[in-house]
Amino acid sequence: MRVIVHRKLASHVFGFVLLLVGLVVLFLVFWRAWPSVSASSNVLSSLWSYVLTEQVELAWIGELRLVYVTVLGAVFLFLGVFVLGFSRRILYLSSGPVLLQCPYCRNDWKARRAVGWAECPHCRKFVQPQVKKSSVA
Ligand SMILES: [Zn+2]
Repeated sequence: MRVIVHRKLASHVFGFVLLLVGLVVLFLVFWRAWPSVSASSNVLSSLWSYVLTEQVELAWIGELRLVYVTVLGAVFLFLGVFVLGFSRRILYLSSGPVLLQCPYCRNDWKARRAVGWAECPHCRKFVQPQVKKSSVA
């Protein structure tokens, strides 16, 4: 059980790191391009042509077209989102009984799994319960 929890956490961290790297790379590309495209009337198209034509010097690789860096950043970003979403789905699937909380009366109850909509057993309202704690013994 402990191993599974660790693996979930690892994939969560991995997804987050990918997302962060992608964001940083895209931000750096944008940061570099901004001084030469900000004056243009159509920022998006000039940003795109800048990315397509410019090259960047990377100390350990050499010259690299900016478009490759941008694509790489986007790929990292999407991979990160994908891994994060996937690890979250695994978390939901494998979680056993959960503790749900009613957003109205703040009472909580045990359920077999997390659900989108449920009837609160305390106030009898049809609510979107919040997961308070996953895997209650
Ligand atoms: Zn309630």
